[in-house]
Amino acid sequence: MTPTSTFQSPRRAVGVDVGGHGVKAVLMDSGGALLDRWSDHDARAEAREVGAVVERVATAVAALSSDPEAAVGVAVPGFFDTRAGVVRSSPNFPAWEDVPLRRLLRERLGRETSVDNDANAAVVGEAWVGAAAGLSDVVMLTLGTGVGTGFLVNGGVVRGARGAAAEGGHVRLPDGRRLCGCGRRGCLEAYTSGPGIVATAAHVWGMEERPDPPATAEALFALHAEGDLQAADAVGRFAVHLAQGITTLVHVFAPEAVVLGGGVATSLEQFREFLEMGIRGLAIPACAADVLPIRAAELGTAAGAVGAARIALQSTGSGAK
Ligand SMILES: [Zn+2]
Repeated sequence: MTPTSTFQSPRRAVGVDVGGHGVKAVLMDSGGALLDRWSDHDARAEAREVGAVVERVATAVAALSSDPEAAVGVAVPGFFDTRAGVVRSSPNFPAWEDVPLRRLLRERLGRETSVDNDANAAVVGEAWVGAAAGLSDVVMLTLGTGVGTGFLVNGGVVRGARGAAAEGGHVRLPDGRRLCGCGRRGCLEAYTSGPGIVATAAHVWGMEERPDPPATAEALFALHAEGDLQAADAVGRFAVHLAQGITTLVHVFAPEAVVLGGGVATSLEQFREFLEMGIRGLAIPACAADVLPIRAAELGTAAGAVGAARIALQSTGSGAK
């Protein structure tokens, strides 16, 4: 700290992750210790209205900290324009269009509030106190309803102009034809999200004219664990798809680590061998030198909230708004 500076960095931050089904929040200290957590669950449409979300964030902040000096960071799904402080659009909140969320939160909370995309926050969280702690070049994929990606390069989050970067779920697979939620064909997300994995299983079941394919990725992995042959086929295909997508990202970023998050990542040990064999076979060795073994996320569903707290501490510390 320079002698002329009177600025005191906040020692604590509340991180809030706003999702389609609920709000998750954590209280962190600047050393990365998790002091407290809070969550609500509300999947009603009215709970996703802008005003309702702002109130739920305020409730979470009040529940975790009465300190007006605590930094506040919020993670939201969708395209957040960090320069303007505006949510441009969000798949989880279809009615949100050009919502000035940062200003609305500042007015409601009476303090500066940092806002970022949830996948960006997740990689920051994992690189702070999770699976990639201390690393500065990290690729993270969160496999869930969709495929979220976050990229840390030289310690900074890749956001792109208008915050539209880090859509690694929509890199195209070599022979990909399946329709994606984005309207294009062949995206990584169409194959490795939960619904994408279920579609692959249905395809394998169909080839064998076998009825009742698994309805969820979780059910598929459970069958695989029991030694089911078609389940093994479907999981193997999924691992190849994921290896293809990760290889593309590794060629661009040559990270120190690749972190897998989301529900599917809890089954990593079931497909690790195929995944890593695929990456070894497909990737340019110099780009992939540091990425194996693939790391499972450690913060679970708290990654976004933890990262949001970290971003809040950093942005307050640098004076950025
Ligand atoms: Zn897509």
